[in-house]
Amino acid sequence: MGALKREGEASDQILAQLGKLAGDDVDWRSGQILTGLYDPGGEAYDLTTQAFSRFLTQNALYINMYPSAGRMENDVVRSLADLLQGDDQVVGSMTSGGTESIMLAVKVARDHAREHRPEITAPEIVLPITAHPAFHKAAHYLGLKVVTTPVDTGDFRADAAAFRDALGPNTVLGVGSAPNFSHGTIDPIPEMAAAASERDILFHIDACVGGIYLSFMRRMGILSRDFDFAVEGVTSISADMHKYGYAPKNASVVLYRSRELRKHALFVCSGTTEYAVINPTVLSSKSAGPIAASWAVMRYLGEVGYEKIVRESWDATRAMLEGIDKIEGIEAMTEPDMCMFTLVSDRLGAINTILDQLPVATRDELLTTFINAN
Ligand SMILES: *Cc1c(COP(=O)(O)O)cnc(C)c1O
Repeated sequence: MGALKREGEASDQILAQLGKLAGDDVDWRSGQILTGLYDPGGEAYDLTTQAFSRFLTQNALYINMYPSAGRMENDVVRSLADLLQGDDQVVGSMTSGGTESIMLAVKVARDHAREHRPEITAPEIVLPITAHPAFHKAAHYLGLKVVTTPVDTGDFRADAAAFRDALGPNTVLGVGSAPNFSHGTIDPIPEMAAAASERDILFHIDACVGGIYLSFMRRMGILSRDFDFAVEGVTSISADMHKYGYAPKNASVVLYRSRELRKHALFVCSGTTEYAVINPTVLSSKSAGPIAASWAVMRYLGEVGYEKIVRESWDATRAMLEGIDKIEGIEAMTEPDMCMFTLVSDRLGAINTILDQLPVATRDELLTTFINAN
């Protein structure tokens, strides 16, 4: 049954059907969804949906027609650059999500190497095994080889020495997570960034999930690990607004240490009868809705609002960890640096065998499932 019928239907009927369809989804308001949901609650949520629909139709590709989109984007990018301790040389773009931000950072590294290290013909990116699959996706799309490095099996932070050893003559980018998504722990960023910088290799921080939250923890004096532009050698950072920035999807930010680096993100094309294209992101036409909603939620919460959320959720995280400690048969795999962690149960296997169990399905098994799906 497709969506397109011969005759159109009345909007109230359609809305009723949408309601029915949504009935099969998990109830994201239940308070029992523990992943992939970032709800600022009540009024802030209502505001983001209003801001989103107010700008839904504006096409952020045409910022000459819709200068509002450009202005709001600049405000959001500047706010994140400040939170992540960038100076006024730091520039960036809003994107559709962490994956696009990461795709751009990887493209910047590839094209920076094409200009500055043309002897590299088989470029590689080096990342800990805990890094997000978006880097593998970016490498797949952009024709780079991925080299993964081990982590400490106690806290799941990258092994900085192994990372250093993996940097080679073909490496165009090193990656660290702040934090990694599964374990909530921050890699030893200063050591990794120093290793990359000694060899003139660009170094990206994946702060997609943690950038905003950790910045507030740092400002509130409850985090002492360095993870942002304050660390020398960090050349780009991705940070999602649609996670702990509390904007609706699709909103993320990618930041570059300099305009010179951002240059490599640009795509330019004037060789068709169509309009000339020059833009710094993957998407062309896109709704200004996510940009407006990001701008609005930052204005609404302010520093005080974000601090309140961080304080409450960090307290709740520690209370949960204490509770989990008392339950036999399950435990948290790590002492997390922010409000995220992974639980293991005896039945799934002991902590130190988890890494040996990778991968849970082979690449070919996964592919076959999808090729045959609708
Ligand atoms: C969510 C996330 C990403 C990718 O983000 P999408 O917004 O899902 O594309 C990358 N890295 C980390 C650590 C993440 O948590």
